[in-house]
Amino acid sequence: MIKKNDEIKIGFYICHCGHNIAGTVDVVAVTEYAARLPYVTVSRDYKYMCSDPGQELIQKDIKEFNLNRIVVASCSPLLHENTFRTATAKAGLNQFYMQMVNIRENDSWVHTDKDMATLKAKDLVRAAIHRVAYHKALEKKSVPVNPDVMILGGGISGITAALTLANAGKKVYLVEKEPTIGGYMAKFDKTFPTLDCAACILTPKMSAVKNHPNITLWSYSEVSNVEGYVGNYKVTVTRKPRYIIEDQCVGCLACIDACIFKEAKFKDEFNEGLSKRKPVYIPFPQATPLVVLIDPATCIHFKTGKCPQSCAKACDRNAFDFNQKPEVKEVEVGTIILSTGFQPFDPHKAPYYGYGKYPNVYTSLEIERLVNASGPTDGHVVTRDGKEPKSIGIIHCVGSRDEKTNKWCSRVCCMYSLKLAHLLKEHSGAEIYNFYIDMRTPGKGYEEFYDKLLNEDVHFIRGRVAEVSDWAISKDEEGKLLIRVEDTMIGVVRRIPVDMVVLAVGLEPGKDAQDIRRIFNISCSNEGFFLERHPKLAPVHTFTDGIFIAGACQGPKDIPDSVAQAGAAAAEALALIDAGHVELEPNTAYIIEERCCGCQVCINMCPYKAITFNAEKSKSSINEALCKGCGTCVASCGSGAIFQNLFDDEEILSEIHGVLVE
Ligand code: SF4
Ligand code: SF4
Repeated sequence: MIKKNDEIKIGFYICHCGHNIAGTVDVVAVTEYAARLPYVTVSRDYKYMCSDPGQELIQKDIKEFNLNRIVVASCSPLLHENTFRTATAKAGLNQFYMQMVNIRENDSWVHTDKDMATLKAKDLVRAAIHRVAYHKALEKKSVPVNPDVMILGGGISGITAALTLANAGKKVYLVEKEPTIGGYMAKFDKTFPTLDCAACILTPKMSAVKNHPNITLWSYSEVSNVEGYVGNYKVTVTRKPRYIIEDQCVGCLACIDACIFKEAKFKDEFNEGLSKRKPVYIPFPQATPLVVLIDPATCIHFKTGKCPQSCAKACDRNAFDFNQKPEVKEVEVGTIILSTGFQPFDPHKAPYYGYGKYPNVYTSLEIERLVNASGPTDGHVVTRDGKEPKSIGIIHCVGSRDEKTNKWCSRVCCMYSLKLAHLLKEHSGAEIYNFYIDMRTPGKGYEEFYDKLLNEDVHFIRGRVAEVSDWAISKDEEGKLLIRVEDTMIGVVRRIPVDMVVLAVGLEPGKDAQDIRRIFNISCSNEGFFLERHPKLAPVHTFTDGIFIAGACQGPKDIPDSVAQAGAAAAEALALIDAGHVELEPNTAYIIEERCCGCQVCINMCPYKAITFNAEKSKSSINEALCKGCGTCVASCGSGAIFQNLFDDEEILSEIHGVLVE
C-alpha cells in the first residue's frame, strides 16, 4: 500500500557504522534491494553516514535529484535522528520527510546470522520506505524559557550548581529537605587524596549560598508537585515547620541552653548518634541557615503541652512560634537540577559483620565523626566503652560488589577507607588492617595516595571478610572482635583480633529516590539511581527535557566528580536559559473536535496531564507543550477523535504493510 504518487522521490542511505552494521548485515545487498523499491531514486551505502561527508552526500543528492523523502538505515534515532533531520533541513527539505531505520541496535547487534540479519534489514527498510511516502511537512513549535532555576538537594553538587547559576545572574531556588545544606560532605573530616579539611572548603560555599542575592534557600523543605514542561515548570514546595521564625532567629543558641532538658538526651543525627541533642537544637555549629529547630517528637510541649517553654522565654527576638504549620510555596522555573544524593548502605543488612550486635563495629560515617575535631569526642578515637583501640580492622566493599547485597562498585569506598586508615593511624597510633577485594583508585592523585598508605605501616589483606564475631578460641582473642578472612595472597584462612571494626559501607540510591522520580517524571536505572539520557553523550540530561541530574543521585561518585557534574548540569541549564526558547517536537497528539464525544477517557489515560476538558464545549483538548507523544490517548479514544503527528493511521498501516509484504 505504498502511496501512488509519481511526485515522491526517495533517497535511501545505509550506514556501515564501521563493522557495527556491515559486520553482520550485507549493506551492499540491502542498497541494491532498496534501489528496486518504488519511488527510490537514489540508493547508497557509506561507511559512516553520520560523518560530515555522509551528511553532505544526502544534501547533495536532495539538490541534484530533487529528492523529497529520505530514509537512513543506521543506528538508533536516539543517537542520530537529529543529525539526519538537520542534514535534510540544510538541503531545503522539511526535516520530517526523513525517516530513520535502526538496523544496528535492532538488527546487527542482536543477530549473528548474516543472511537472516540482512533479510531483516531489508524488511525494516521496506517498511520505512512505505511509510515515508505518507510523511507530512511539520513544524516545530517554540516556547519561551523561564530563566529561573530550581535545584533540589543542597549537598556539594547542589551548592556548586546553585553558585554557578547565581553567579551567572540567574535566580535560583535551592530546596533542601534537611534543616541545613552541606549534605554528607559536611560530616567528613578530611577529603581524599589531598587531605583537605572538608569543612574548610565547604563552609565558605555554604555561606556564599546563604548570602547570594540570587539564591533563595529553602531548607527543611520538600517538593510535593511539579507541573508543566521544559522552560515552564510550576513547582510546589512544602516548607516543614521548624517552630522558629527563620528571619527572626540569629542562631545565638540561648534557647538551647534554656531548654527544660538540662542534659542532651536524644540521638544527634549529624553525629550519627554518637552524641546527644536536646529537642531544640541546631544540626551542627556551621549549619546553614544558622537557625535552630524543634523536634516535636521529643519536645515536651508537643508531647504533653505541659512545658513552661523556657526556650521561647529565653529568646529575646521572639523567634518562637509553636503554632507554625507547613507552608506551601509555588514557584515557576524554566529548568530543574536534581542533586538529591545517596544514602549509605545499612550494614544491618549484612549481619555477618556484626553491626548493631557488637558495639565496637562502626560504619565509616561514624568514624568520620569520631576522627573529626568538631565531632562527639573532639577527634579522640575511643571505642564506645571509652577505651583507646590498639588495633582496628577496616572492611572494604560492605554493601558493594556483593551478590548478597548490592552488586555495583560504590567507587569511593577504597579511597575513603585509605583516608580513614591514615586518619585513624594518625589519631590513635593503632595497628590498622585493611581488608579489601580489589583496590580501586581511579582518580587524579589516588594511586599516589595508596602508595603513601603502603608506606605508613598499615596492613593490607586481600580477601572478602567472612564474618566478624567475638568467639575467642585463645587467651589472646578474649575481649576482642575476630575478623575471619581468607587471605587470597597466601591462600589461608586467617583470624585477626582487633578492638574496633570499621565497615566501609557502599552507596545506595537515596531513600526517597523513587518518590522524586515519580514527582519529576524521570527514570531510574536498575539499581535505582536516576537515569541519564546517555551515559557518555548526555550524562546530566534526563529523558524529561529541562530536568538535569548531578552528583551521587545519578550513581556513586566522589566529590570532584560530583562538582564537575554539577557544573555540567548548570551549563546545560544556562544553555537553555540563554537560548530564550525551546523547540518542541511536533509528534504530538491532536483532537478533531467534531469527533470528540466528551467521554473524557483520554484525560485519565494521559500520563503527562496534557489533556483538559472544556465543559462549555463538552470536548477535550490537548496542550501540545505538555504532550510527549506517547500515543496512549490515541489508542484509548473510542470515538477515533485523537490523532498523532508522525503516527497517522496511514503512516502506521503502510509501515506494517511494508514490513509484512514483500
Ligand atoms: S530562636 Fe531565639 S534564642 Fe534560639 S537561637 Fe534563634 S534567636 Fe537565639
Ligand atoms: S499522546 Fe500521550 S502525552 Fe500526548 S496527550 Fe496523548 S496520552 Fe498525553
